Amino acid sequence: MYLGSVRFFKHLINLTMAIVIGIAVMGIYTIVSQLDVNFFAKTAGAAAAEEFSIPSYEPLPDPPEEETPSEVTAAFKITEMDYQLSYPKLYVEPAGQFIPRNKTVYLTFDDGPSARTPEILEILKAHDVKATFFVLTKGSDPELLKRIIDEGHAIGIHTHTHKYGEIYASVEAFLDDLHAAYEIIYQATSVQPTILRFPGGSINAYNRGIYQELIAEVLRRGFVYYDWNVSTTDTVSNITSQDVVRNVISDVEGKNNLFILAHDSSNKKNTVKALPEIITALKEMGYVFDKIDNTVEPVVFAYPQP
Ligand code: ZN
Repeated sequence: MYLGSVRFFKHLINLTMAIVIGIAVMGIYTIVSQLDVNFFAKTAGAAAAEEFSIPSYEPLPDPPEEETPSEVTAAFKITEMDYQLSYPKLYVEPAGQFIPRNKTVYLTFDDGPSARTPEILEILKAHDVKATFFVLTKGSDPELLKRIIDEGHAIGIHTHTHKYGEIYASVEAFLDDLHAAYEIIYQATSVQPTILRFPGGSINAYNRGIYQELIAEVLRRGFVYYDWNVSTTDTVSNITSQDVVRNVISDVEGKNNLFILAHDSSNKKNTVKALPEIITALKEMGYVFDKIDNTVEPVVFAYPQP
């Protein structure tokens, strides 16, 4: 009989073991496959992120706290605002547009008025020409300033002190000086000066650090500044009147409008002496003379290449 026989018990034991092993294998498989899924999911996700460059999420850093401006920054900001806000009445009405001119000579005399001014005015009157005086106002004779205007010439600002170290120390310093000069000219002549010439020209060895800011500020206030394209070179010591004439005439060629730099300081006797010959020669070359006002398109020095 099979039931209860030794074979039966053998088969029962085998069957039981098979079931136990089967359950065990299924359990292990379930655990392992669960692990595999997690592992595969992670690996596949990382690979996909890498392949398509999907940025993995990282929390953004906290925004930086508002920095308290350092004293240096704050001081700079205040200074920058200062000069634009200073002298709220130091503005002039711009002409709006320049009027084209041809073959016009603008004789300009810097650094006066001086003992030479009446002599220059007499020569200009005798030759019936007008000129422009870029004056220094410190210690200037108000009667001479008025006479320049009364005789039909123009006055422009050439600063109050002409002290390079002071006026070009900062934009603010220049405005202090400009304001003083402006007031003195206006008081003496009742004419608002709207044109100026920077001492040493608009770009010089003394204003290298500030010239762009300075020029921008002067223009913002409505002034027009004039450099020159012809020089008498009368600042050279011991220059003769013949050299002054020669310097001007040799510098004219190829130029339409001439902005001639001359000086009206008391030691410029040879400039005065050269003047009649310069005027006569340029008239013979077909030039007409005029004074500068803010409708005259200025000649200005080019900014140096960086
Ligand atoms: Zn000067």
